[in-house]
Amino acid sequence: MSNSSLVSYTKLSPNHSGARTHSIDRITPHCVVGQLSAESICGCFTSPSREASCNYGIGTDGRIALCVEEKNRSWCSSSNANDQRAVTIECASDTTHPYAMNNKVYQSLINLCVDICKRNGKKKLLWLGDKTKSLNYSPKSDEMVITVHRWFANKACPGDWLYSRLGDLASQVTAKLGGSSASSGTTTPTQPSTNTSFPKTPFTVQVLVSDLNIRKGAGMNYGVTGKYTGKGVFTITSVNNGWGKLKSGAGWIYLENASYVKIGSSTGASSGSTSSAFKAYTVKVTADALNIRKGAGTNYGISGTIRDKGVYTIVAESNGSGATKWGKLKSGAGWISLDYCKKL
Ligand SMILES: [Zn+2]
Repeated sequence: MSNSSLVSYTKLSPNHSGARTHSIDRITPHCVVGQLSAESICGCFTSPSREASCNYGIGTDGRIALCVEEKNRSWCSSSNANDQRAVTIECASDTTHPYAMNNKVYQSLINLCVDICKRNGKKKLLWLGDKTKSLNYSPKSDEMVITVHRWFANKACPGDWLYSRLGDLASQVTAKLGGSSASSGTTTPTQPSTNTSFPKTPFTVQVLVSDLNIRKGAGMNYGVTGKYTGKGVFTITSVNNGWGKLKSGAGWIYLENASYVKIGSSTGASSGSTSSAFKAYTVKVTADALNIRKGAGTNYGISGTIRDKGVYTIVAESNGSGATKWGKLKSGAGWISLDYCKKL
């Protein structure tokens, strides 16, 4: 049994039970509750008195560390039965709900899961989305199952940010393994509940959780300016990539997770001229290589790259991280930073 070649830092923890008593057929990703480096994650587990560890840690810059060799049982998920068969991974995250991870961490988690599956002879990573189903499921010889810490202890781990993406993680890893993410056997992967459409602004939302972060901008990469401590109804005056701007001016809240926020109805009559349609225009790309992203922001995944310095039609604009303004390509390929384009 080997360790991942993606590891760039190794500091072995004394906290483990020695060789596993069960073959590896689970991966349990955790949120480490801190934007820690790979070194710092290992540093959490060097003292025997800590009585905790993980197999791998992913630092906030995406670098991967080895804390407990893959052949050994780590002390990570509050479950002997789980940790005997799971590769456990602590991922750098925010310190507060929803324990968001940045894109580098998420991409490294995908790559590490692919590598773990490959070396352990697995062709599919499954997210069954349900504790009872997952823990009772007997994976076929080429299947790996995702489990989460919150099923074994009264914890939020891996945090709602990652929890809501586990279906995506499973399908991305399975795709990279060359398999089909179609459901296996009798199980159907459960998708997280998502708010996908929003009424015309302004509209009301009901906040369902008591600790929802308010951020300076429309993205996890923006700083937290406050937090709702009470559940209430609030007015959203504009929407940007699933984030809603609060009428109060306090900042932006994440709207897409239906377990945090219930979308209400439109409250304002249109004030006439403000609703004029966006007029498409053409731009010439000025950069040698310009990434196309799935959404308006560097926090969205890259779906392609423009290398021809060609002329493209922009059909919508949006604010988002990493650029003054983002433009949506008419082709439907995605969004590009307009900082590297000349308007024609
Ligand atoms: Zn955990």
